[in-house]
Amino acid sequence: MSSCITEDQKILLQVVQMILNYLQEQQIGTKVVDYQSPDILKKKLDLSLPEEGVSLSELFGVIQSYLQYSTRTSSSNFFNLLFAGFQPEGLLSEMVTSVTNNTMHTYESSPVATLMEMALIDALNSMVGFDSGEGLMVTGGSNANAIAMLLARHKLLPETKHTGLGGSKLVAFISEQAHYSFLKAANLLGIGMENVVKVKTDRLGCMIPQELEAAIIQSLNDGKTPIFVGATAGTTVLGAFDPFPSIAQITRKYELWLHVDGAWGCPVLFSRKHKHLLAGSELADSFTWDAHKLMGVPLICSAILVKQKGTLSDACSSGDTDYLFHEDENAAYDLGRMSLQCGRKVDALKFWLSWKRHGKNGYEQRVDRLFELASYATEFIRTCKHLELMVQPQFLNICFRYIPDGVDPNTDVDRINLAIRKQLLQSGQAAINYAHYQGRIGIRLILANPEIHEAELNRLFHNIITTGKSCESVMKL
Ligand SMILES: *Cc1c(COP(=O)(O)O)cnc(C)c1O
Repeated sequence: MSSCITEDQKILLQVVQMILNYLQEQQIGTKVVDYQSPDILKKKLDLSLPEEGVSLSELFGVIQSYLQYSTRTSSSNFFNLLFAGFQPEGLLSEMVTSVTNNTMHTYESSPVATLMEMALIDALNSMVGFDSGEGLMVTGGSNANAIAMLLARHKLLPETKHTGLGGSKLVAFISEQAHYSFLKAANLLGIGMENVVKVKTDRLGCMIPQELEAAIIQSLNDGKTPIFVGATAGTTVLGAFDPFPSIAQITRKYELWLHVDGAWGCPVLFSRKHKHLLAGSELADSFTWDAHKLMGVPLICSAILVKQKGTLSDACSSGDTDYLFHEDENAAYDLGRMSLQCGRKVDALKFWLSWKRHGKNGYEQRVDRLFELASYATEFIRTCKHLELMVQPQFLNICFRYIPDGVDPNTDVDRINLAIRKQLLQSGQAAINYAHYQGRIGIRLILANPEIHEAELNRLFHNIITTGKSCESVMKL
C-alpha cells in the first residue's frame, strides 16, 4: 500500500510540475492554440478505450497532449469567449473538491460547501438588491435562465407542475439580442420556441420598453398567456444592458415575472463607477449570476437568485425523496430540496476562495480595469483608418470590422472579416470570435482578462490589419 501511494505521489508531483510549466509558457508568450483539424488531432491522440487498464504513469503522456492541444484561455491572445484568465485559487479548489468528492444535495454529505454556498448566495443577493432572497448554484447561466422561466410558470400556473401544460398557450418575452438559452428553456418547459417573442432593440442593442408592451398586448389579443420577461444585463454579442426600471413598470402592470439575465454583466455591480448600468436589478423576481465569466472563476460556476424565499423548493421539489431528505434538525440546510439535480458538484469552494482572495474591492478593480481596456480598444478602432466600429460599445464587447483600403464600408466585407479571424486562430496568433449584427458580420473582441495590457491590444490590432491586407490580396477585393 505505502509503495503504491509513493508511486501515485510521484506522478501527482510530476503533473503539478507540468502544470507550472504550462502556466510559465503562457507568461512568456506562446500560441493561443496549437490548432489541428479533428482528423489530425484524432491521429495524434490515441482515443481508443482499452479492455485492460493502464498505470497512472501511462496517463502522463495523455495529460501532456491535453495541455498541448487545448485552447489556452488564459493566454494574452485569447479574446474569444466571455471568460478568460487563470486564478490559482480555482486550481486549488478543483483539487480539493475532487479529493473530497462530495455532492451538494444534503448538509450531511457536504457540510462545509453547503455553508459556503449559502454565504455566497446571501452575498450575491445583497449585491443584486434582493433583501431576503434565496438561490442556488446551478450548472451554468443557461440553466439558471431555464429555472427562472420555470419559476415564472409555477407562479402563474402552479397546477402545471402536477398536471402538465394542458391547453395553456404561454408566452415569454426577451429582446432580440438575448441569449439563446431562453429558447432552449421554452423548449424544455413545453412552452415552445415559437412562443418566445423577441422584442426589438435600439441601436445599442437594448430592449425597447414600448415594443415590449406592444408585444404583450398583442399576445393577450391573440388569446395567449404572457408569463415571463427575460431582460439582459450585458448581452452576449453587443454587451447591451436593458432598461430595467422601465421594463419592471411593464411587468408589474401585467403581473409578469421579471428575470434579469446577468450571466455576463453581473459583476458590474461591484463597480461604483459602472453599476448604474444595472440600476433597477432589485426590481426583478430572479437573476442569473455567472461567476465563471467576468469574475474569472473556473467553469462551471453560476447561480440562480430569487427574490422571494421558498419559491425554488415550491417549484422544483418532486416528492419521493424521503430516502434522501430527512426531516431532521438540518432540513433547512439540504439545498437539494431546491434543485432539479440530485448529485451536484461542489462549485461553492472555488467561488468562495476567489471572493475571499480578491474581496469586493478586487472585483471592483477588475471590472474597472476591463472597462478601461474596452475604452482603449474602442478609441483605437475609432481612430484607425482600417477598422470600423459596428456599434458604440456599452460594455466589454467591441464589435468592429476590417475595411480594406479604398473600399466603401457599405460593400460586403463579411468574407474578409471571417477570413481574418480564421487565419488568426489557425496560426495561433489570436482567438477571437465573429458575430452577426444587422445583417453584417464583424469581429467581436471580448475583454475578460484583466491581465491584458494595452500593448497586447496593439499587437492584436496590428495582426488583424496585417492579416487583413494579406487576405485582401488573395481575395482580390
Ligand atoms: C453566456 C451567457 C449565458 C449562458 O451562460 P452559461 O453559463 O454559458 O450557460 C446566458 N446569458 C448570457 C447573456 C450569456 O452571455
